[in-house]
Order: sequence, then C-alpha cells, then structure tokens
Amino acid sequence: MEKIPSKDVTPRQADHQAAQGEAVTQEMYAQRKHIYVREIKGFFQKLRRSANWGLMLAFFLLPWINIGDRPAIWFDLPSREFHIFFGTFYPQEFVLLSWLLIICAFGLFFITVFAGRVWCGYTCPQSVWTFLFIWLEHRIEGPRNKRIKLDNQPLTGEKLRRKTFKHVIWLLIAFATGATFVGYFTPIRDLMPDLATLQAHGWSYFWVGFFTVFTYLNAGWLREQVCIYMCPYARFQSVMFDRDTLIVSYDENRGEPRGRRKRSLSHEEARAEGHGDCIDCDLCVQVCPTGIDIRDGLQYECISCAACIDACDSVMDKMGYPRGLIRYTTENALESKPTHILRPRLIGYLAALLVMVSAFAWAVNDRMPLNFEAERERNDLYQVTRDGQISNVYNLMVRNLDQRDHTYQLSASGLDGLTLDQHSISVPAGESRSEVVTVTVDGDAIQQPSHDIVLTIESERDDSIRLDRDTRFIGELRR
Ligand code: SF4
Ligand code: SF4
Repeated sequence: MEKIPSKDVTPRQADHQAAQGEAVTQEMYAQRKHIYVREIKGFFQKLRRSANWGLMLAFFLLPWINIGDRPAIWFDLPSREFHIFFGTFYPQEFVLLSWLLIICAFGLFFITVFAGRVWCGYTCPQSVWTFLFIWLEHRIEGPRNKRIKLDNQPLTGEKLRRKTFKHVIWLLIAFATGATFVGYFTPIRDLMPDLATLQAHGWSYFWVGFFTVFTYLNAGWLREQVCIYMCPYARFQSVMFDRDTLIVSYDENRGEPRGRRKRSLSHEEARAEGHGDCIDCDLCVQVCPTGIDIRDGLQYECISCAACIDACDSVMDKMGYPRGLIRYTTENALESKPTHILRPRLIGYLAALLVMVSAFAWAVNDRMPLNFEAERERNDLYQVTRDGQISNVYNLMVRNLDQRDHTYQLSASGLDGLTLDQHSISVPAGESRSEVVTVTVDGDAIQQPSHDIVLTIESERDDSIRLDRDTRFIGELRR
C-alpha cells in the first residue's frame, strides 16, 4: 500500500525549507510490524484463560438454554419484547436499559481507577477472541520461532497446508460466533436448522455473514490494532488513573542497569558487579500481545494482561532471583511512597455504584408486570339513550408483562352509578389486547359537562397487579 507523505509546516521546518530551498517531508504512518506472540504459562495467564474460557462458554451456551418454550435470553426485535431469564421487558421500559448501561459505565470506571485496564486484558471480547485465535495459531503453526520461520520461508506444500487449515478453523470459529450472536435475536434452535437447510430469512444470512467476517478480521488480522487505534476506552482510560491505581509496571530501580550475565552468578554477586535484576532476555516483549516493551514505562497500548509478569517471573525463577521485577503495583509504591487503596475517588465510584445497583434491583423487583392505557374515543363525545342514560366509549390497551396468563377485572369509579359493558379481559403471558368498552351512567348523575373518572384493572389471580388510569367522562347537563 502506498504511504501518504505529510509535510511538516512548523516555523522551524519552514526556516529549514527556506534555507535549503526544498520541501521536507516526514512520514506520519509507521508500517505495522506483525507481532508473533510467544505463549507463556503462569498464575495470571491461568487466571486470564479461565476467565476467557468461562466467558466464551457462557456466550456460546446461553442462547441454547430455554425457560419454558422460549430461549432464556431472546431479544425479539419484531415483537419488541426482550426476554431476559424470567423477565420480559418492553421498549416502554428502556429507562431500565439506560440505567443498566450507566451502571456498566460506572462499574468500568471503578475497576479502572482500582486496577487499570484489567477489563481489557481479562474480559473484553476483542481480547478474548484474539487470544483464542492466537492460541489456535500456536496449535496449528507451532510456537513463536516456528511461526516466524514459516512466514519467512517461500510457499511450500506444508506452508500452504498449515495456513489454509488455520484460516479454515478461524473462519469456522468466526461463523460459530456470528451465528451465536444472531441466536440472541432469533431462537437459535430454529436458526441453526434453518441456516443448514437454506430456509432462514435473508437478514439472518446477512447478519451471520457480517459477524463472521467481523470476528475473523478483528481477531485474526487486526488484533492489537483494534485496542491501540480503534478502541475509545484506550484513549480516555488514562485520565482515570491516579498514583494509587494498580498498573503492570517494571521496577526500574531494581532492574537497571539491565544486561546479560553468566547464569552461574548469584543474585548477590550480580548486584556486587553492578548488575540490576533485568537480564535483558526480551521475554517480556515477546509475550506481549500489543508488542510493547513494558520497561519503557506505562504505555496506553498496555492492556494489563500480565503476560509480561508471568514471563519475567519465570525468568527470575530460573535465575534464582526474587519474583516481581514486573508486577502489579502503583506509581506511589514504585517510588517507595505509601499506597492508598481506599481513597476518596474510589470510594465515591463505589458508593455511586452501590446506590445505582440497589436502585436498579429495586426498580426491577418492584416493576408492575402490567401495562394499561385508556383513551376516550375522540370522534364520539357521548351518546344519550332513550331512557336517559349517557355513555362514553374508551379504547383500552392491556399488555401482560408477566410470565403467567392473567384475567383482569375492569371497573370504573369517580361518578356514582358507573357501569361497564365488559367486566374482564384475559391476556396470555407476554401478550397484549386492545378492547373497546362503553361506560354508562344515569343522566341525573351528571353535574357538569366533564367529570374526572378512573378506570381500573386488577388481576384475578394476584391483587397486587393492579393499575388505575385517570380519564374523563363527558355528558350533558339536564335542565
Ligand atoms: S523478562 Fe524480565 S529479565 Fe527479561 S527482559 Fe523482561 S524485565 Fe528483563
Ligand atoms: S506490557 Fe505486559 S501487561 Fe501490558 S499488554 Fe504487554 S504483556 Fe500485557
């Protein structure tokens, strides 16, 4: 790809150009260097892999779990119903979703202030899928050195076989991811056979294809570039850091001056000869999925995956040095200053988070599983019967938000002698019914042209499920 040269037009540059009589160009785009991530074992990698496998398992299995005859999680967009385990939510309740998103944002702020970018390293889908793809690459093409050699050698039958196999496996995983994602919106037990027999809706093919390509490109090709160049969180997370935030750091005081030395040299002897603890083996760089050298200090590319900690600890073990040359620590601790884990900022985020989670839990728990609208028929003010009765017509909309069928009793109040032509409405679980009811009253009861009345519905099986709607009753005064 041809690079775009850009001209530096700072005054100093302009002076230089004037002096030289020529334009100076400066490359603003660095070519991406492919990162061959070395696999490493260790405590944090065990933790990370457990989190990764657990999250992937949850992602792939959840759409297959049914509650009754419907998926436990099903975002049914055509019906505008969002089934989440035992609850069904509707667009009218989007305020709950907004609260949930705000809680997630505060949760992320809290975690970031406390422990930096651990979300990125351990749970972000981009990292989880990238680590899976790298893990598969390692199984198919071999460890880091073999992969570098394979990429540098000319195309042979063996190379073609391994590369093709790797991409086919990547595409299969990407397809499973895409189909599972769509399975959260279309019941997956119907979707899979429909896809296999080419009976699925056109949009299902489109979205499965889209997310297959999206996953394959992001996790197989773009990898760390998504974290470095595309993710907005990478750009603003550093403003949430303070000097007491846990970050992955290289202990410069202990590690420098770095350099190679004889393996037989004990820790004390190495120190006596003026060596720091870093043996400059480069292992921490080779295991880094974003290709940085943590010894250069905290960098926004670091996703806090702790691979460099495990790598360096394994080196320290081999050398017989104490572990922790690279470790989770704070800037204050690195400067031998006291670290304050419980600090006002962290407590503030925690308090806000607790309040919001409690309010959210209360709102969900206290939510009335019923929606009821009553609107007076506008085209027909009122009717007067021969026997002097006055009636108004109302359009009712009853939505049963519960998991059970309900029959609701209808009543009217606010004016003596109100009667209805219909006294109950049955609505199956999760469905809605529209009804037209007529409310009638004796003409003598009318004291003014418009009366405020209340229409009420109440479940026959649970009297706590009850809603009132204020409306008006229009009539004519008898002279
Ligand atoms: S792994 Fe440890 S010893 Fe090796 S270069 Fe990195 S910091 Fe130095
Ligand atoms: S520097 Fe260490 S913690 Fe940061 S991304 Fe690289 S390996 Fe992970």
